[in-house]
Amino acid sequence: MGAPTTPVTTGTPPRPIPGVHPASRALTRPRRRLVAAAAALVALAAVGAGSLLDLRTPAPKSADAPAGAFSAGRAYEDVQVIAARSHVAGSPANEEVRAHLEQQLRGLGLETEVQDTVAPEAGQLSGAAGGATVARVRNVVARLPGTDSTGRVFLVSHYDSVQTGPGGNDDAAGTSTILEVARALTTGPRPRNDIVFVLTDAEEACLCGAAAFAASHPLAADGGVVLNLEARGSTGPVIMFETSRNNAKLVDIFGRAAPHPVGTSFAVEIYRALPNDTDFTAFLDQKFVGLNSAYIDGGAIYHTPLDTPAAMDRGSLQQHGDNALGLAREFGDTDLTDLRSGHDATYFPVPGGLVRYPGWLTVPLALLAVALVGTLGWLTRRSGRASTGRLAAGFALALVPIVAAPVAAQLLWLAITTIRPGYAELLDPYRPIWYRLAVLALATAILFTWYALTRRRIGPAALAVGGLAWLALLGVLLAVAVPGGAYLTTVPALAGALGGLVALRTRQTGPWPVVAVTAAAAVGVVILLPTVVLLFPALGMAMGGVAALVAVLLGLVALPVVDLLHPQAGGQRGLLALRARRLAVLPAGAAAVAAVVLAGVGLGVDRFDAAHPAPTHLMYAMDAGTGQARWLSHESDPQPWTDGYVDGVTDVGDDFPGLGDGELRAGPAQSANLPAPKLEVLADATAGGERTLRLRLTPQRAARLATLHVDTSTATVLRAEVAGRSVPVEPRAGKWGFGLVFHAPPAEGIEVTLTVRPIAGQVALRAMDANDGLDALPGFRPRPPAVGVVGSHSSEMLAVARTYPI
Ligand SMILES: [Zn+2]
Repeated sequence: MGAPTTPVTTGTPPRPIPGVHPASRALTRPRRRLVAAAAALVALAAVGAGSLLDLRTPAPKSADAPAGAFSAGRAYEDVQVIAARSHVAGSPANEEVRAHLEQQLRGLGLETEVQDTVAPEAGQLSGAAGGATVARVRNVVARLPGTDSTGRVFLVSHYDSVQTGPGGNDDAAGTSTILEVARALTTGPRPRNDIVFVLTDAEEACLCGAAAFAASHPLAADGGVVLNLEARGSTGPVIMFETSRNNAKLVDIFGRAAPHPVGTSFAVEIYRALPNDTDFTAFLDQKFVGLNSAYIDGGAIYHTPLDTPAAMDRGSLQQHGDNALGLAREFGDTDLTDLRSGHDATYFPVPGGLVRYPGWLTVPLALLAVALVGTLGWLTRRSGRASTGRLAAGFALALVPIVAAPVAAQLLWLAITTIRPGYAELLDPYRPIWYRLAVLALATAILFTWYALTRRRIGPAALAVGGLAWLALLGVLLAVAVPGGAYLTTVPALAGALGGLVALRTRQTGPWPVVAVTAAAAVGVVILLPTVVLLFPALGMAMGGVAALVAVLLGLVALPVVDLLHPQAGGQRGLLALRARRLAVLPAGAAAVAAVVLAGVGLGVDRFDAAHPAPTHLMYAMDAGTGQARWLSHESDPQPWTDGYVDGVTDVGDDFPGLGDGELRAGPAQSANLPAPKLEVLADATAGGERTLRLRLTPQRAARLATLHVDTSTATVLRAEVAGRSVPVEPRAGKWGFGLVFHAPPAEGIEVTLTVRPIAGQVALRAMDANDGLDALPGFRPRPPAVGVVGSHSSEMLAVARTYPI
């Protein structure tokens, strides 16, 4: 016995045809081929449907659900109270919300207190453009003491909202979930570990509430497990999208204890790369471990006036609660002394649960995939199904759809936003489904067109191996750069290679080759289809190309099944072959038409109207010293409504350093009768060339924030203290080289102590404060019904500034 040294090209009929994929060799008769194609596609569709059904949110439980269960119906009653109106940190509305929370938690018999302090922001955040940032915060903290505690479990959400909206989802969802979980936990047997309910303040401003709790609350001193609950939209599955480092044990508990565990290690990698932050950031240090969960679809309403209780999908709320309660019970009874493991896990959802394996397997698996695909290529060549040249061409050409599909998706979105510029200010369109389907149809059209063009010359086998080779190589790249995402291409490449090997080695006349490649494609569907579906809301249509890329990778894994849709390669001559080629173009043409139609339907259906207004950004800034006022907008290509206020581009850094720097649209505005914040000198002492100024900055109206800046051409700031705490002195760019931002300033004012080295005579200080709401300003014309407000931290802001030489 010896291995044949030349390809087996003679023997039993049917004669093998060079370039024909193994799966199709048995299927020289068109009817059998069609049946096989139909069976394979039905199987894949069923697997895909199963994967997507698994992402559905649970049915919301009504208010009369059993006491030990989480009821979205009960939680929603709190949502309505919390999100009755906008309740930004420091506002009277937020005080009412806080009173409700305290009353609810005390009513459950929990030890409840308010942590009232001034705290710096967590980490270095994007919001710090104005300078060192602090806030006065009031966290509501309640404790359910454990029976034999091994550590603490913290359930965290923020109760403040943005200034522009009531925060019906963000984060009344998390806050009401925690109240309902607290209720369910107090009705059942007491957990072993302490459970601490932490409802934080000033998350939207600076994560200052969470930072204050993590850094200085006695209950946080020994650390513990943090479960943070968020919402960045109004619907969709709750995704566990962020973890502390070395998460394997946490993820294992999540997979076991959450009734609907949707989470992927890829999301953790994406989130680390995005500039977003939540309260969870404040807990990411040595003391704490934890999981961060949110639902994120329906992002169009995020931070806008439309984020109301009515906008909430109560299925998402139920999932938040089911998972939070399951995790609180499990962590409540787990020995918390050893939750860190030496590694991160790779994990992803599959129907019925969460697959997880240790992160150290990532690189070996990626290399194994490369080896198996290499073996498949070698055996494919040895069996005479593709020459070395064709295999090389297949590999090179498989890069075409991988590059073309994302590029085309981005161009499609460029075209759509050119037609509808208002989309530029939205995280996602109001009804994104049509555009998402258009992107998928476009990716399909590109893959099918590419396949129809290359299949006859290169052959199905070489193209299939070429596609798998790219998945395997991407797996190696990802394993090195973003290990948590490597499974996305490694596992489908492994499955594809194994399927191909089985198809090569089994009897070509039987059904096994088709079964093998279909099973391999099914693995790709299970892993990549949910990824595509979750990537759309995660990144928004502006980055739809990423979903298109993953869709094409899925198509490459399924290429042997796609091939069954095409007539037998090389099986026909003359007229028959011509007809076959024409037929092969059909699916590509159909997908291309679908892409155009779906994009058109999207434009037709998702029009701006009163319920789905075009977002606009406007603010007002006035110098109380000169009386000069301006309208300002962040819109780079102003909407018609905004265009009525702004006419040019400006940089406000010199006049309003509290607004940060960067270009804004601006236009002249009438002066309003508004007072600047008062700056008083409480003490002024000079010693050894250093001047120490004790100042009080007092807003003269209900302000959301106040800022104080120093012109560093008049003095160098050496040290700074705000409300008795020292803040970092980090130089800023521009004239105002030192700045402080104080969120939720108390009515009695803020005490600031600056130690400076004077440069020339008086020190120039610029004080600014800001509140929200432009309606009462002279010259403001209310928005028409179909014009709305951009969800941003500066929309509708009304800033007043003044320079004080001291
Ligand atoms: Zn928010």
